[in-house]
Amino acid sequence: TDNLLEVKNLHTHFFTENGVIPSVNGVTFSVKKGEVIGIVGESGCGKSVTSLSILQLINKPGKIVEGEIRFHDKDLTTFSEKDIRKIRGNKISMIFQEPLTSLNPVFTIGHQISEAIRLHQKVDKKEAKQRSITLLSKVGMANPERQYHAFPHLLSGGMRQRVMIAMALSCNPELLIADEPTTALDVTIQKQILKLMKNLSSESNTSIILITHDLGVIAEMVDRVVVMYGGEIVEENDVYSLFENPKHPYTKGLLNSTPKIHRLKEKLQSIKGNVPTPDQLPSGCNFQDRCPFAMKKCREISPDLVVSSDGSSVRCWLHQEKEVVNV
Ligand code: SF4
Ligand code: MG
Repeated sequence: TDNLLEVKNLHTHFFTENGVIPSVNGVTFSVKKGEVIGIVGESGCGKSVTSLSILQLINKPGKIVEGEIRFHDKDLTTFSEKDIRKIRGNKISMIFQEPLTSLNPVFTIGHQISEAIRLHQKVDKKEAKQRSITLLSKVGMANPERQYHAFPHLLSGGMRQRVMIAMALSCNPELLIADEPTTALDVTIQKQILKLMKNLSSESNTSIILITHDLGVIAEMVDRVVVMYGGEIVEENDVYSLFENPKHPYTKGLLNSTPKIHRLKEKLQSIKGNVPTPDQLPSGCNFQDRCPFAMKKCREISPDLVVSSDGSSVRCWLHQEKEVVNV
């Protein structure tokens, strides 16, 4: 297989006092070497839980109850915590939305990047410092020698996110998982950061999973898109086909509510209604209460994710005529 990562039939549930919350339900997708894929959906759709599951960072009361996370064809769900630590922050690294909470306020950024390097690579302090400065310049810090000594709170949000990218890249990861990496930043800075991530990934052939609620971000960055709703994948396609010819009513709704893409339209529509919480999923299609095309059948039976021969897939009764390759 030329897949770097294969997520197979992932189910991640939370066992709370008020019952079981099935946050992720049978999610399957793969990432090839050097590929950038996007996982898009509104908050609560299961995209962050999916990424935390990949990293084996689901804590009690959460649990992966079914499925496999195959990285280099080895199932990470069977790894001990000790073995997973050799992968996490090393072969697979991550960037989250709020850099300030991920950086330690009492150490300089240079110190933190150096430590990250020394954690997984056998280099002395001097070499680690040199590599840190190189990384800081790679991520576009204007004066890396000086900024090496800066404390996190003295940097702007955009600068801090660059530092996080430098840190995530310090171990030359094969896979970078970025969960809403630019959501807290203004649009101009957001564009710069995304461009930076994309350039760095193509330079080093790093695969990226980009998690976002923003299809505008997806359009700038990714090769392939996975759309999630109610803990399931509802559509997957290459980025051009998805924007050109969205099939699932939810994907269409997302596109209609994305200003950067439909800026010429007179009115932006937003999708009516709210995402059902995972403990209140209806029987039948999860999207039925917000779907303008909902039929009687949609309220009774859940549609399967139907995979077409071109590799795209969609979960909707309006698109069930194609051959099922496998689900
Ligand atoms: Fe809408 Fe029915 Fe398709 Fe669900 S299955 S998205 S309710 S048309
Ligand atoms: Mg999230």
